[in-house]
Amino acid sequence: MAHSNEMGAPLDFKGLWQYDAAPEDKSQVKIAPRYNHFINGKFVEPDSGEYFDTISPSTEEKLSEIALANENDVDKAVKAARKAQKDWAKLPGKERGKYLFRIARLMQERARAFSVIESMDGGKPIRESRDVDVPLAAAHFFYYAGWADKLEYAYPGKKASPKGVAGQIIPWNFPLLMAAWKLAPALATGNTVVLKPAETTPLTSMFLAELIRDAGIPDGVVNIVNGMGATGAALVNHPDINKIAFTGSTPVGKFIQKALAGRDVSYTLELGGKAANIIFEDAPIDQAVEGIINGIFFNQGHVCCAGSRLFVQESVANEVMRKLKYRIDTLVVGDPLDKNTDIGAINSKKQLDKINELIQAGIDEGGQVYKANVSTPDKGFWCAPTLFTEVSQAHRIVNEEIFGPVLTIQTFRTPDEAIKKANNTAFGLSGGVWTDKGAKIFNVTSQLRAGVIWANTYNKFDPTSPFGGYKESGMGREGGLHGLTPYVNLD
Ligand code: ADP
Repeated sequence: MAHSNEMGAPLDFKGLWQYDAAPEDKSQVKIAPRYNHFINGKFVEPDSGEYFDTISPSTEEKLSEIALANENDVDKAVKAARKAQKDWAKLPGKERGKYLFRIARLMQERARAFSVIESMDGGKPIRESRDVDVPLAAAHFFYYAGWADKLEYAYPGKKASPKGVAGQIIPWNFPLLMAAWKLAPALATGNTVVLKPAETTPLTSMFLAELIRDAGIPDGVVNIVNGMGATGAALVNHPDINKIAFTGSTPVGKFIQKALAGRDVSYTLELGGKAANIIFEDAPIDQAVEGIINGIFFNQGHVCCAGSRLFVQESVANEVMRKLKYRIDTLVVGDPLDKNTDIGAINSKKQLDKINELIQAGIDEGGQVYKANVSTPDKGFWCAPTLFTEVSQAHRIVNEEIFGPVLTIQTFRTPDEAIKKANNTAFGLSGGVWTDKGAKIFNVTSQLRAGVIWANTYNKFDPTSPFGGYKESGMGREGGLHGLTPYVNLD
């Protein structure tokens, strides 16, 4: 019997039953040997002809080479963004929103590739890139797509217009997610962008560039140039930039602030942190121990809001320490692509050296160290989970951001003492409180000087929720309605 489709043409079933060709091997994620700049919708070679290697921190093997942007490349990218900006801003918000929805959906379709690449290039466990980084990045585009045609509701009685061209410089700890945090609100509000990813993790940004091209985003709306600090500095110093958004270390943030002083460029800085995670005696201790683990060892501790200073009420300190030591010995440190891995590779040799230097400083200053009894691979950059007791405010490891799997532990007797100790820091990004009492949560959290505070949980992120810090943790907020504001002028 002949079959036909709706158009009347005979159907060909052959392809359905015949498997003479090998099925496409979907387990392979293809990384090109070389990536160029993404400028004006095209992949273009660098002005200098120079490329730099990006390696896997878990194997130390080269993954690809990436075009290095100098001032001329940055200038080309800014010019492309400037040229595209008027038309992009003129599009009805609904149309811009459609493009953002398309980016979000394509990201979901390509989630597996993004996760694998993120873990290979950056070292983080695949469980985290698969369950946190990539879905959250897509969620940011979905969320800000929704705002694109509702700016009059975001700012009732005011007219919101885009800042213009935004230079965005991002770090290596959440490469794709930080790109999403930066791009989504900027694009939703009619800005165009030049993005500078971090030099150790350029790959997911290049995959994102391909996605943006495939999504049909108009040429020049998103431009991506890679390079070291000098490339970031060239972007900051470019005379035709209207806005700089930076996430990274406090020293570089200060440098950028100085470079922008006296110029008509608005900026947001999301910098370092040294968060207090406070455990009261009435907390559910087993859950709190899991929260401590997640707070400091998530993403190898490469987290600006990591709960890196633990404060435990004296009466439960022994119990918490015993459970914590037991628990960190069970953590699996190793291959980021193994689904059972809890802690992946340290992002770079430079970062591992910095962590080890601070661990040594902690020991030299009299801290009591406990390193988890776990095995680590021979090749690659690794750091076993590390706890420090017998430390005080005077210790470097209590003051400085380590950005690694290293936790300092101090005790307290009263809520007031916990609050004082928690606030005794140059930073003010985040914090955590664990207690059974709602009133205590309100009392303590309202006195902590930090932008984001979690109660009975830690490291929970959502695109609807603003994120940012006080003091040396930076200025401005990303996420939520607050995250739109740095990208608009309000009349
Ligand atoms: P880390 O020291 O942990 O590598 P950074 O703050 O240096 O963190 O890096 C965050 C981002 O800032 C990266 O993309 C990096 O290339 C960029 N960067 C570094 N130095 C400068 C600078 N002087 N001006 C602008 N961007 C910079």
